[in-house]
Amino acid sequence: MKILINDGIHPTGKKLLENAGYEVSTDKIAQEDLPGKLNDFDAICVRSATKVRADLIDQSPNLKAICRGGVGLDNIDVDHAKSKGIHVINTPAASSRSVAELVFGHLYSLARFLHISNREMPSQGNTNFKVLKKNYAAGIELTGRTLGIIGFGRIGQETASIALGAGMDVIAVDPFLESADISFGPASHKATVTIKTSSMEDMLANADAISLHVPFLGEPALGEKEFAQMKDGVIIVNASRGGTVDEDALLAAIASGKVASAGLDVFIGEPTPREDLLTNSKISLTPHIGAATAEAQEKIGIELAEKLIAALS
Ligand code: NAD
Repeated sequence: MKILINDGIHPTGKKLLENAGYEVSTDKIAQEDLPGKLNDFDAICVRSATKVRADLIDQSPNLKAICRGGVGLDNIDVDHAKSKGIHVINTPAASSRSVAELVFGHLYSLARFLHISNREMPSQGNTNFKVLKKNYAAGIELTGRTLGIIGFGRIGQETASIALGAGMDVIAVDPFLESADISFGPASHKATVTIKTSSMEDMLANADAISLHVPFLGEPALGEKEFAQMKDGVIIVNASRGGTVDEDALLAAIASGKVASAGLDVFIGEPTPREDLLTNSKISLTPHIGAATAEAQEKIGIELAEKLIAALS
């Protein structure tokens, strides 16, 4: 059987497929050349670049599986593929730890002003050093603080695992889950605790920092009403999807001091954040890089290969 890897795969994933006896091609075929050529393959693996739409599926009757390295399936006509008996595979679990670690990158950065002090460090001979030091001397420790987590799925639970290891309390909100067992610490000293989910109101009233891990729900999970219920000086981190935080309400809450600072890996209008997010000294921004680690890329390759081998056999 032949597999076309059209948007790249980690070498470990490719090796797994080859070891299972599949012929693997990583020579990219341009989107416009796929009709006709794709039918030479039994499966296609894509990231977000290649589109696998209904007409392409119809022109490739030999196709048995479509794989997406990553989570979002927006570039694949999933229902159409399934109606033709084609397996559709994605790798939602592979990047969870990496996203959770980025959340903590933002949290520690915001707690100690790293995102802005890096930009403002004085050049040699600059006498502003004392002022600068004073500006950034009001840092906080995360240990002993409470992290609120909205959405207690894969990434929310990984974020809880890091929080527990860092000595934070966790309050999780998820209407579809009663509790989850969270393991934390190194493999040699693992501990596990059960965290019961709480109400949004309880979380908002008690969290010192809040991290979002929900899909886009049609309207923001955090808006004006929710900000009003938070503790003063709360830190917000969003590494879920643009639109899950009302950006106007967030900026107003930062301006009023309700929110001390915010870390955003996702925002409306990606890849370019609106100007007043970009220039706000209390906001730490990253360009949707939650899953962008060597480990996540390898895990994506492995998860994809294992699922594809299972589907084809
Ligand atoms: P998941 O499906 O495992 O978890 C989502 C959780 O949200 C579920 O447990 C669900 O019950 C819960 N939920 C649904 N509606 C809710 C509501 N109204 N209030 C509270 N909880 C609710 O998903 P995941 O893999 O943990 O991904 C979470 C988010 O992270 C998604 O938006 C995903 O797109 C995003 N993501 C971002 C990156 C990145 O690079 N920043 C990478 C991967 C995923």
